[in-house]
Amino acid sequence: MSAPDQSVAVVGGGWAGCAAAVELARRGAKVTLFEAARTLGGRARAVEVNGRTLDNGQHILLGAYKQTLSLMKRVGVDPSTALARLPLQMRYPDGSGGMDFIAPRLPAPFHVIVALLRATGLAREDKLALGRFSTAAKWMGWRLDLDVSVSTLLARFEQTPRLVRLMWHPLCLAALNTPPERASANVFLAVLRDSLGAKRAASDMLIPRLDLGALFPQAAGRYLEAKGGIVHLGAKVESLSRTDHAWEIAASGQSLGGAWRGGFDAVVLATPPAQTGALLAPFPEAEALAAQLNAFEYEPIATCYLQYDPGLRLPLPFCALLDEPDAQRFGQFAFDRGQLDATQAGLLAVVISAAGPAAALDQDSLTRTVAAQLDAAFPGLGLAAPSWSRVITEKRATFACTPGLARPENATGMPGLVLAGDYTAGDYPATLESAVRSAQAAAAIILRGGASSAKNGSLSHAAGKAASESVR
Ligand SMILES: Cc1cc2nc3c(=O)[nH]c(=O)nc-3n(C[C@H](O)[C@H](O)[C@H](O)COP(=O)(O)OP(=O)(O)OC[C@H]3O[C@@H](n4cnc5c(N)ncnc54)[C@H](O)[C@@H]3O)c2cc1C
Repeated sequence: MSAPDQSVAVVGGGWAGCAAAVELARRGAKVTLFEAARTLGGRARAVEVNGRTLDNGQHILLGAYKQTLSLMKRVGVDPSTALARLPLQMRYPDGSGGMDFIAPRLPAPFHVIVALLRATGLAREDKLALGRFSTAAKWMGWRLDLDVSVSTLLARFEQTPRLVRLMWHPLCLAALNTPPERASANVFLAVLRDSLGAKRAASDMLIPRLDLGALFPQAAGRYLEAKGGIVHLGAKVESLSRTDHAWEIAASGQSLGGAWRGGFDAVVLATPPAQTGALLAPFPEAEALAAQLNAFEYEPIATCYLQYDPGLRLPLPFCALLDEPDAQRFGQFAFDRGQLDATQAGLLAVVISAAGPAAALDQDSLTRTVAAQLDAAFPGLGLAAPSWSRVITEKRATFACTPGLARPENATGMPGLVLAGDYTAGDYPATLESAVRSAQAAAAIILRGGASSAKNGSLSHAAGKAASESVR
């Protein structure tokens, strides 16, 4: 069946679900998107807190996120205004005992070489170790035959303790949200390939000026509706079943008038692994897949928002911080939101990746420790007592990106049913780009017709619609 004849249900309206829906609708499929929450965006969404629009967590993108950037353009968001583009950098506040590493606007590989030569806070042996690492990693094709932990990789390449502490440790936490002792060297190398080892523009760091909802998911919803698609918010898919003719979805939610059932030619499951495993549980042929999905482990991320006087300005839009959990210093990066979005003047966002130890503290205690850390890192700015604060902790922010982790393919082996999400097979960790790439691969399977055999007979879209009914 060709795409225009297909009715496709996309379950989950995170970035993967939105991306799959956009791609399918663009190619003429009749798409219905179900999202359990009241907003689109999933783990990268806008939230309302005390009348402010914040993100559920501060995000950062890379110039290498090609699919994400081109999809934003497709739905009418201009990345050049929606994102602040900064050169690859790891900059600690002056006098903090950190380092200052920033890539100049030179073609690769000179941007990294010159950054290394100019870097302050690193000794000669640190710079030589970093240079050796990049050369060897490039020579290996940024991949090991046998995956090991990032710590083992760094030890193998004799990286100095200072370089590990100031560069590799924060980079690994930021990119993989998994501590180096438990993080996959191969996934880390893939990220480095596209940053340290890439063309300069690919290595750029892109920080959202818009809230995460406006950055893509809301525009994706509008695009979908303009193409004749349907977006159901507050609509939780409860179960999935297969008839000879179609996939049947049972969903619930006020916006659906209570309980709802409908038939579709194909289904994209763009829900996180645990929910996907639960939806697949009734299918004996998906037993191994469901077990694989249920085996994923997760890492939290906490973002601490602190409001100061609107006149406050950090020396940079974002800085690395020295994290020392044993000394109650948990923050790894501080973002000055006011330098990115004028409506957020004086608002700082401090990110704590792999936030297990920090998440054990209550909101007030964590805020106090983060404010004290900022006050020490930026003396003279008076950051010890914010006028307002909020910690947002995402307990299952990303899957734990461990060595040799088996991630499922998009195809399920069940006709007409594909998976999409940041966790499916790919060389990137859980990121917006992996979610988008996965979604495009899932959509391509359906569009190729690889998913069209959901039914033996021919259920036209009209018939699919007729099968959709409200059962109150
Ligand atoms: C705090 C934080 C910081 C991060 N920082 C970065 C970063 O700096 N850079 C980066 O690239 N990535 C970052 N990430 C990771 C990135 O946000 C995720 O990889 C990405 O958003 C995952 O998208 P997804 O669509 O695969 O999954 P999700 O966003 O989890 O989407 C799944 C959707 O399915 C919905 N759903 C679940 N069950 C049902 C059901 N039964 N019926 C209907 N809907 C259902 C959920 O509500 C959700 O909206 C961060 C994540 C967090 C949480």
